[in-house]
Amino acid sequence: MDLSLIIPLYNEADSLPELKAWIDRTLKDFTYEIWFVDDGSTDGSWNVIQQMAGADVHGIRFRRNYGKSAALYEGFAAASGDIVVTLDADLQDSPEEIPEMVRMIREEGYDLVSGWKQHRKDNALTKNLPSKLYNWTARKVTGIKLHDMNCGIKAYRREVVKSIEVYGEMHRYIPYLAKNAGFDKIGEKRVHHQKRKYGKSKFGIDRFVNGLLDLMSLWFLSRFGGKPMHFFGTSGILMFLVGLVMTVWIIVAKLVYQAHDLKFRAVTDQPLFYLALLSVILGVMLFLAGFLGELVSRNATERNHYQVKERF
Ligand code: UDP
Ligand code: MG
Repeated sequence: MDLSLIIPLYNEADSLPELKAWIDRTLKDFTYEIWFVDDGSTDGSWNVIQQMAGADVHGIRFRRNYGKSAALYEGFAAASGDIVVTLDADLQDSPEEIPEMVRMIREEGYDLVSGWKQHRKDNALTKNLPSKLYNWTARKVTGIKLHDMNCGIKAYRREVVKSIEVYGEMHRYIPYLAKNAGFDKIGEKRVHHQKRKYGKSKFGIDRFVNGLLDLMSLWFLSRFGGKPMHFFGTSGILMFLVGLVMTVWIIVAKLVYQAHDLKFRAVTDQPLFYLALLSVILGVMLFLAGFLGELVSRNATERNHYQVKERF
């Protein structure tokens, strides 16, 4: 099987037949299977999928809505094609981009090719502008030079999707997950973007706040996931040292003033005293967080999971 197409969908009944026909028209030269993952739709999408069922058209139906990441996770688990392609169900992503993406993986050796929406047909203020900002931040943090990290259409070598675990709302950062799993040949292809024809967008402006938080989490996990003490311990030592220096300063100053019989403010009247107190306490708390983090990561089942590329 050349391709597995994974299509996560939530209430996209109107788009599905057109999408299926478009795929069949476009991918004549490939052998492929389609996995529709119905993420708890309530608009009859599942009936539409059932009507399209065939040898190479499969469906997975969630009992309730879990989110796009969950749908992709199940799709990735089921996929058996050499190359796995994800595609939004709303006809905004064009299947006509797929052959070129496949070629890039096969011939140019990419592990992952992500779409880059040209002339984006979404609301400029609520989507396009924040999206630019968000992608800039993501580029800085992840070190992956993608213009459109969260594009719905992407193609992967099968090993990639079998080596990563998408969860929560991490579908926005699959290239980062892939990079952290050691797949660093990540490319992008400019793709056409269509206006949404049926139904409405499932994500609001809150995506950017959540997206940023997830980015921070992933950054932390990829750098310190296996060694939380290195993060908390370092900041703890710094805090503690700052507090210590201030404390010593306060004591020495007091002794010097006393020795010379000078007038001296009570220690508890000095702002520095409270700053010193705060720093020392914060330092100790950071250390505590570090120890707790170590206990948690020691219990993680994947603490010794590595991506072995080859062995003989
Ligand atoms: N989607 C999903 N579960 C959800 C939300 C969205 O499977 O909880 C699917 C949706 O049906 C579509 C894709 O994810 O196929 C992208 O969603 P949408 O088009 O709403 O995102 P946008 O294009 O606005 O970024
Ligand atoms: Mg869409």
